[in-house]
Amino acid sequence: MLKSFIEVDSDSHFPIQNLPYGAYETEQGEIHLCSAIGEYIVDLFVLDEEGLFDGSELNNQYAFQDSSLNYFMSLGKPAWTEARNTLQSLLSADSKILRDNTLLRQRVLKKRDEVRLVMPVQIGNYTDFYSSEQHARNVGSMFRDPDNALLPNWKHLPVGYHGRASSIVLSETEIHRPKGQTTPNNSQQPVFGPSQKLDFELEMGFITGPGNKLGHSISVQEAEEHIFGLVLVNDWSARDIQKWEYQPLGPFLAKSWATSISPWIVTIEALEPFRTACPEQNPKPLDYLHQTNRSTFDIQLDVLLKTDNQNEPHRICSTNFKHLYWTMAQQLAHQTVAGCNVMPGDLYASGTISGNEDDSFGSMLEITWNGNNPLSLPSGEQRSFLEDGDEVIMSGFAQGNGFKVGFGEVTGRILPAIE
Ligand code: CA
Repeated sequence: MLKSFIEVDSDSHFPIQNLPYGAYETEQGEIHLCSAIGEYIVDLFVLDEEGLFDGSELNNQYAFQDSSLNYFMSLGKPAWTEARNTLQSLLSADSKILRDNTLLRQRVLKKRDEVRLVMPVQIGNYTDFYSSEQHARNVGSMFRDPDNALLPNWKHLPVGYHGRASSIVLSETEIHRPKGQTTPNNSQQPVFGPSQKLDFELEMGFITGPGNKLGHSISVQEAEEHIFGLVLVNDWSARDIQKWEYQPLGPFLAKSWATSISPWIVTIEALEPFRTACPEQNPKPLDYLHQTNRSTFDIQLDVLLKTDNQNEPHRICSTNFKHLYWTMAQQLAHQTVAGCNVMPGDLYASGTISGNEDDSFGSMLEITWNGNNPLSLPSGEQRSFLEDGDEVIMSGFAQGNGFKVGFGEVTGRILPAIE
């Protein structure tokens, strides 16, 4: 097994097998791209400046001297592979370049808990899908008809909508309760005020690489070449605003006010060892969505809730990325089939990920069945939806043999609505 000269605990999310991408603020206030290993971040700007990314794809590209990953992501898979191989080699136990150079090591390795992580990518476009069958069934049963929970299109295309990129924020950003129009007690007369049904949505998102030209499309077979890596996503939602506004054009303000992502982008290459089978698709989708050798990734996902009266966060959901009905490749093929252009740095989120068991639902809407079965917490408190002061913590990892490839966490705490 590949080992680093840096000690990494077997429970760490960031062994040498992971090497995700992020960004941090230096002591001088500059933004540097970085990776993570064990308790440390790895300053990629310094490594690039030292000429250590000198392979055929990255030499003289200065890809890690930018303040965002967009240019690096636009270079495509050969550059990504080269960067990963270079980093793994520089950090491996038998490479002297960093290991035996104290001065360089001090410039490159910083304690992760002593730096401020920042958004590593300029996200130009954001799409949110709806690809978990159990989630779609739960919502359809609650609001329409348990016997016809899925709409007729659901098994024929990955349902999605275009979200709002400007309000995507990094983990730990505090979230103000949104205000809007709602219709309490099924009235037809709206009132204006803070949302009373504030919810989280447990999702994962992928960030794209090169992309396609306007008018062209990305085929389902080549789609993964355009997927750089994955992040955890909390797609905050206001259920009461959504209920009144969403027909006929779909979600608008209910979903526009905040989406939180985890600070580390875990690459497809790091996730390769965790490929696993997808749920069978029946009926067979149309040819442009028909993917031979369909596969997904085995990624354990957890949601924890911490209220002001709890000392410890309490786990309220445990599920897995592998349950999704539509793959990322199918989502990207569908996104582009009409000719829409995908850009480097776009975010495509999965939709809420729910499993089959009661403790595997990825939103308060499902956990409490729209508030009808409030959640009891160890502190004695109950929750139908999120209250001011509540903190939602999502984490995810893939379990290897003696190591984890993890995403860290995406957290966010709810503050009162701004007056
Ligand atoms: Ca969503």
